[in-house]
Amino acid sequence: MHAHVFASPESSFRATPAPNGRPRLSPGRWLARIGRVLCLAGMGAIAQAEERLPIFDAHMHYNVEARSLLSPKQVVELWRKTGIRGVLATSRPNDGTLDLMAQKAPDIQIVPFLRPYRVQPDRHDWFSSSGVAEYVEKELQRGIYRGIGEFHIFGKDADAPYMAKIARLAKERGLWLHAHSDEDAVERILRHAPGVKLIWAHTGMSTPLDKVEQMFEQYPNIVGELSYRGDLEQDGTLNPRWKQLFMKYPNRFVVGTDTWVTPRWGEVENLAAFYRRMLSALPRDVAERVAYRNGMEIFGLQ
Ligand SMILES: [Zn+2]
Repeated sequence: MHAHVFASPESSFRATPAPNGRPRLSPGRWLARIGRVLCLAGMGAIAQAEERLPIFDAHMHYNVEARSLLSPKQVVELWRKTGIRGVLATSRPNDGTLDLMAQKAPDIQIVPFLRPYRVQPDRHDWFSSSGVAEYVEKELQRGIYRGIGEFHIFGKDADAPYMAKIARLAKERGLWLHAHSDEDAVERILRHAPGVKLIWAHTGMSTPLDKVEQMFEQYPNIVGELSYRGDLEQDGTLNPRWKQLFMKYPNRFVVGTDTWVTPRWGEVENLAAFYRRMLSALPRDVAERVAYRNGMEIFGLQ
């Protein structure tokens, strides 16, 4: 809306130039002009307040299927168009993330995470697969990754020795985990390596919000990512219960698109618009935190 807000007042604002090149205005017109200037200033403030929030996308995948349809350059262009200024990139296999980094887009920060998946079926048994362990070992040698994930693990599976090993390794090396897990698995992971930093994909997807709140109180090292939380919206606006959580923990939520299947790439702009609409129910500073600043700060990018 910003362009047209200014277009019409500005065009009517121009006075006819006097012969010396300066506008010639009568006192009455001066008053009218001052009024318009004040009005414009007010509108400027409104336009500024409504300026679209930048987004840090803390949950995206540039998987092999998407790579055959969307070039890394096109992905960067989509991010630019959408106002996505930073991404936590995690791809299957990790080559997708490397391709995006190779674009070296100066205006988009890419935070690479090591995904422990070579192929789609790894998602089900990565924590008990020697092939995955070898792959992860090799990828770690690149020394570029800021975290490990997104991985899927639920319930007692999180007690698998390899999960424990990854949790401890992450803690030792100051890496983040990005876990798509139920609360039970999150707690098991945190028992393996108390204090390990963990982004909770989908904030548990369907974990009741009272439980989310309790987990956030208990584990200050958890950050909640919000994709696929269908309960964010209630009656066309931000669910008041979520609003309470954002106000209580303004530093601990991030948004994500989760382009886990290729058609989801077609939704990226809508998803960004959805988050902006939901977050507009919050004070601007809290909205900025959740949309963008938290993601950037977590990784020391601002
Ligand atoms: Zn995902």
